[in-house]
Amino acid sequence: MARINEHYQKLKAGYLFPEIGRRVRTFQQDNPNAKIIRMGIGDGVLPLAPAIVAAMKTAVDEMGQTEAFHGYGPERGYEFLAKAILDNDYRPRGVDLQVEEIFISDGSKCDSGNIQEIFALESKVAIVDPVYPVYVDTNVMAGRTGSIDSEGRYERMVYLPATAENGFSPPPPDMGVDLVYLCSPNNPTGATLTREQMKSWVDYAHRHDAVILFDAAYEAFITDPEIPHSIYEIPGAKEVAIEFRSFSKTAGFTGTRCAFMVVPMALKGIGRENEKVSINTLWNRRHSTKFNGVSYPVQRGAEACYTPEGQKQIQENINYYLENARIIRAGLEKLKMDVYGGVNAPYIWLKTPGGIDSWKFFDKLLNEAHIVGTPGSGFGPTGEGYFRLSAFALRENVTEAVERIHSRLKL
Ligand SMILES: *Cc1c(COP(=O)(O)O)cnc(C)c1O
Repeated sequence: MARINEHYQKLKAGYLFPEIGRRVRTFQQDNPNAKIIRMGIGDGVLPLAPAIVAAMKTAVDEMGQTEAFHGYGPERGYEFLAKAILDNDYRPRGVDLQVEEIFISDGSKCDSGNIQEIFALESKVAIVDPVYPVYVDTNVMAGRTGSIDSEGRYERMVYLPATAENGFSPPPPDMGVDLVYLCSPNNPTGATLTREQMKSWVDYAHRHDAVILFDAAYEAFITDPEIPHSIYEIPGAKEVAIEFRSFSKTAGFTGTRCAFMVVPMALKGIGRENEKVSINTLWNRRHSTKFNGVSYPVQRGAEACYTPEGQKQIQENINYYLENARIIRAGLEKLKMDVYGGVNAPYIWLKTPGGIDSWKFFDKLLNEAHIVGTPGSGFGPTGEGYFRLSAFALRENVTEAVERIHSRLKL
């Protein structure tokens, strides 16, 4: 029999969402009449904007005609979409990028999971804790860590605890690392990095020759005009950072799949003979070897996000989710709970009342209020004692959830 990649056996068993699913199914079987409200997974519930649907339909019709048929497209994406991205997401923010620096893909999960492949196995990796589990798990799979300890920390991984004291945005460590994953607005805490905090990371990366892997999947939820949407708004970031963006949360593409990565020409790594190597060239090699492009109709749909109607329609959806977040936040604050996030992000991060652990609160919320959320400990050991509620829900469910928390939860 073939030996397996043993690094997979280091992964913490029972990944977060399957365990949530198991507990919810058991509860539903025991309580068949309970109407469960799901505020666990970060997945949109509003339909695609009409401008996007129309663009996709037109593109599908083209695919049915000999003259307009599209076969394999460029692996890195069509230029029409890359140009729309540059003109709308970057140029208005004073960030000048070229089409060759954009790589269109089918998701930021894949991008943020795959990027580690082009870096050395010996690379020292830092993550903010708690965070999107993909960054840690993909480095574990690659063999960049040792085994997990009793508290849920992998050997050789550098954990930067995000706590209420540091506003859930830990500063750069004293030690040097090679790769650091940052996520702003953050999943799960909803915290954002200020311009000064981003600058301290860019300075850190220059000082230590580190590469910042900047996940901006939630940038569209930023309401505070002082908060940068892109790491490249910080001078010097092009030499040290890769940025991940996705249409998933911005425009409801979780089921449609489209995202992109920015890999600046100015970003360099070190090769075998200590020579400088273009990360863009390396990623282009990787991307075009293992990926054959996002479908043409989907890229046309993504392009439509940047039309005036598209912009207006997706902004309405974002405002809807942000209003949900405001309602949840206000409802919990009325109960004197400690709540964070939910202002520049679709997630509310709360301290479990009475100091109970994250899974205990999960069971309590499910049993007493029939609401599903996400235990903070599932995002990293420092998330223990916290809980995430997602604003990706229908308004009537949000208001009912808040009402139930007030009337049924025994605090
Ligand atoms: C949802 C999410 C993404 C986007 O993933 P897709 O694969 O593009 O759907 C990326 N990063 C974080 C932190 C997320 O929560």
